[in-house]
Amino acid sequence: MNTPFSVAIDGPSGAGKSTLARRAAARFGFLYVDTGAIYRCVGLSCLRRGIDTKDAPRVEALLPELQIHLAYREGEQRMFLGEEDVSSEIRQPEVSIAASDVSALPAVRAYLLEMQRSLARENSVIMDGRDIGTVVLPDASLKVFLTASAEARAARRLLELEQKGVKTSFEEVLRDIEYRDQQDSSRAASPLRQAEDAVLLDTSEIGLEESVDALCALIAARMEQIK
Ligand code: C5P
Repeated sequence: MNTPFSVAIDGPSGAGKSTLARRAAARFGFLYVDTGAIYRCVGLSCLRRGIDTKDAPRVEALLPELQIHLAYREGEQRMFLGEEDVSSEIRQPEVSIAASDVSALPAVRAYLLEMQRSLARENSVIMDGRDIGTVVLPDASLKVFLTASAEARAARRLLELEQKGVKTSFEEVLRDIEYRDQQDSSRAASPLRQAEDAVLLDTSEIGLEESVDALCALIAARMEQIK
């Protein structure tokens, strides 16, 4: 097999990273890797055990006990804690906050790094997160920084949660997004920032199909360039 092609997509919460990445991955036959889901598993484990997600020593002590696995079922990424499929539970709003809290801890980031890198070594991937282009895959074939206004992101996230049957409100989702934006951008360990060589894609004013096409056009152009 040729060297795998890798697309790093970073950006704030609710920018549409997962939807766009999933759609583009299907179009190119690449593996879609949602790295936020891995942080969510750590957050969920803390909540279940009553561990304060900002208590660095306790969260760190928990890491070796965690059996986080990622598997693909019918092309969909599923997350497991031991034998248990937690793919739905990790989408709860309180888990979003817990994930953001634990992701600020350097020990957690270091612990999850190899899991993410190994996926990109073995497969052509579209990987989304906050530090994919800056830390996880600094040599990614293509880096995209995907963003949109906080309001546009909250409106989209609300729709997505409602479709999944999660009960919440626009205000709660916006608050959650602003909290995570602030925390993800200001943390010392791998803060969210655009890599110097990343292409900026702002989807505040454009719809889903147009955004998917824009992302796919970037990928196709890059594949052509390095062929
Ligand atoms: O992408 P998602 O919203 O599922 O991510 C949950 C949280 O995990 C984010 O708020 C962010 O704090 C953290 N995260 C991260 N680095 C990544 C992916 C997610 O810090 N690569």
